[in-house]
Amino acid sequence: MRIIDIHTHPVFFNAGIEPAETQLIMRRARQLGFVHMISLGDVLRFGRNPDEEQSRIINDETAEIMKRGRGFFIGFCALNPLLGEKVVRREVDRCVGGMGFRGIKLEVSCNAQHPAMAGVMRAAVEHDVPVLQHSWNQLNKRSRSYHSDPEDTCALARRWPNVRIIMAHLTGCGFRGIRAARGLDNLVVDTSGGGPEAGLVDYAVEQLGEHRVVYGSDLPIRDLPTAVGRITGAGLSASTQQRLLYDNAAELLRI
Ligand SMILES: [Zn+2]
Repeated sequence: MRIIDIHTHPVFFNAGIEPAETQLIMRRARQLGFVHMISLGDVLRFGRNPDEEQSRIINDETAEIMKRGRGFFIGFCALNPLLGEKVVRREVDRCVGGMGFRGIKLEVSCNAQHPAMAGVMRAAVEHDVPVLQHSWNQLNKRSRSYHSDPEDTCALARRWPNVRIIMAHLTGCGFRGIRAARGLDNLVVDTSGGGPEAGLVDYAVEQLGEHRVVYGSDLPIRDLPTAVGRITGAGLSASTQQRLLYDNAAELLRI
């Protein structure tokens, strides 16, 4: 089985920064059939509001991981939308335009419905890259002011129909998040986050279609065999499994 992992953090709170650690991740992953991993960066290392220089440090590390991987790792540019459109544009130009990154990663600097998101989305349109938005159930939580609920991420996709959105964390989005994503052809949900839950992956495929569910692990928070097992153990046909584990991500990233 060929696998692309759409959601990994090879460096996480500085762990994994040594070249030998990158090689270890790659060796293990290749044994399991992984062809590519999307490296989203050490996104929370400086807290939830990194400044411009801290964002550059995070993205430079991703560039270094890409270099070590010789094509195995594909970088996404980690951004803080609150730094403003000029700063955002400069960093996207540098990472996507200059260093071959293939997407944008957003964490918890602001909610997906914040006005500052417009600058990020315009950069995504211009560079024609997908945007991966961290998402987790925020019903009745004060953190929703900066933390995106699946409903917020879906609203973003609705507002920007020409941008491909990856809504992260199937477990955190849950059945409600899957229902919110119905009919949004420019949005896929990644299967990372939390432990596998019986019924969730199959429900997502049933409600959204097999083209809109993409495998992700959230390495190193989740281990790879468990993350893959939630796809292979979901009672899906072999061709649907292959679609989730490889084809959808390959199409999304134009590999
Ligand atoms: Zn993550």
